[in-house]
Amino acid sequence: MKAHVSPSIILRIKEIGESDLVVTFFSADRGRLRGIAKGARRSRRRFVNCLDHFCLSTLEYTEKPGRDLCFLQSGKLLENFPSLRSDYTLLSLASYMVELAEILFPLRVADSAMFELLKKCLGALHEGKEKETLRVLFEARAMTLGGYGIQLHGCSICKRPYEGEGRAVFKCERGGIACLKCARETADTPGMNPLSVGTLDRLQSGWWPEHASLHLEEEVIQELRPVLARHIEYRIGRRLKTSTSLG
Ligand SMILES: [Zn+2]
Repeated sequence: MKAHVSPSIILRIKEIGESDLVVTFFSADRGRLRGIAKGARRSRRRFVNCLDHFCLSTLEYTEKPGRDLCFLQSGKLLENFPSLRSDYTLLSLASYMVELAEILFPLRVADSAMFELLKKCLGALHEGKEKETLRVLFEARAMTLGGYGIQLHGCSICKRPYEGEGRAVFKCERGGIACLKCARETADTPGMNPLSVGTLDRLQSGWWPEHASLHLEEEVIQELRPVLARHIEYRIGRRLKTSTSLG
């Protein structure tokens, strides 16, 4: 059986029996997978420090048709992002990102853009980049990659195009914005100014500042947070377990 090798992010680890681990990981080319690492807790030779939560590791594994679990043969640590496990705030946010990725991507749904997003966001969190910016960026882009982008180009009720002027209201059951003639701003239908709508559009399209700082205006974050929270809860059908520890 030919072994497959993929850069992967470790999402979840469970101890089984005396020496085995069941590892859930997001691979760059095959999406989310679950594998058993036989004897991993005793033999540290094949898996040197590479099976910790949030680590980026190259994993070697084999798959059998019809089997849910693959067999992990060996692994090599690429990045271990230690502060994600030692700082409670970072741990909470990283766990939230992982939970959202797991919900949006069932096993074996490959998406290299989602892998890149998770990798870049975990790396940026570890480096101490702005947490609130990263949260909003991750939520907007992950939902889009999962097939739930928010429709921003026109009013979802009267269909009038949104020209980037004036406030717009988010209607979660329509998955898009509405104009102020069709809807009122309330706690359930939060409003956004043109800067927030434009920013959300860029985030959904995959904005990542390679050379500039990873920063969103405070007022934009304040407007996008409730919009994304309602959107995620409506589309997923519940609040994420890890969202309660985020504050
Ligand atoms: Zn309208």
